[in-house]
Amino acid sequence: MIDFPKARSKMVEEQIISRGIRDLRVIEAMKKVPRHLFVEEALQSQAYSDHPLPIGEKQTISQPYMVALMTEALELKGKERVLEIGGGSGYQTAILAELSERVFSIERIRSLAIRARQLLYELGYYNVEIKIFDGTLGWPEEAPFDAILVTAGAPDIPGPLVDQLSIGGRLVIPVGDEYAQDLFRVRKTKEGMVREDLGGCRFVKLIGRYGWESE
Ligand code: SAH
Repeated sequence: MIDFPKARSKMVEEQIISRGIRDLRVIEAMKKVPRHLFVEEALQSQAYSDHPLPIGEKQTISQPYMVALMTEALELKGKERVLEIGGGSGYQTAILAELSERVFSIERIRSLAIRARQLLYELGYYNVEIKIFDGTLGWPEEAPFDAILVTAGAPDIPGPLVDQLSIGGRLVIPVGDEYAQDLFRVRKTKEGMVREDLGGCRFVKLIGRYGWESE
């Protein structure tokens, strides 16, 4: 039997804290959420390893450090309305649900969305709503959002997402070509958009109206 809580503590020490993640709320959330439940049983022994893992439909659950880095960049304090594009396994969704008031998550692949919805409900995350849709269009009915996280690589920043950000809001998104991207944080201010490059990364493609055309 694998001691999952122990594996999780070790992951947080060796991959998250040691690489410079400082937000204590992010660290606590990563210690709490049972990541192994978000992958299939045959892969559970690798759930706390330092890499992404397949979740079916040619998609992946992001590397733990990348989840921590993106979440920290959103600067969540607990009262935010958060939009997530690319819900996938629902693991990142659970982390966001721990750290904010409400999470609206969009996933384009039905089977993934249905599985994530069921698991998040079983785990008691009642502040999450998952929609099966093209997330590059955002979720206008629920806008504006204090934070928006895109967990798939985009060719450009989708305009609708910027439109749906509140003043002071943060959008975190990987932008680049299909092989490599840079993680950007875009802050919406009264004076305009402020863009910061947080470093290199590699994600599966964001597919949709304001993303890539196909896989
Ligand atoms: N955060 C997820 C990452 C999944 S990979 C996790 O850790 O499990 C990226 C996900 O983005 C895939 O599930 C893919 O289907 C989804 N995706 C790609 N383009 C999308 C779009 N336009 N709208 C919604 N989801 C999209």
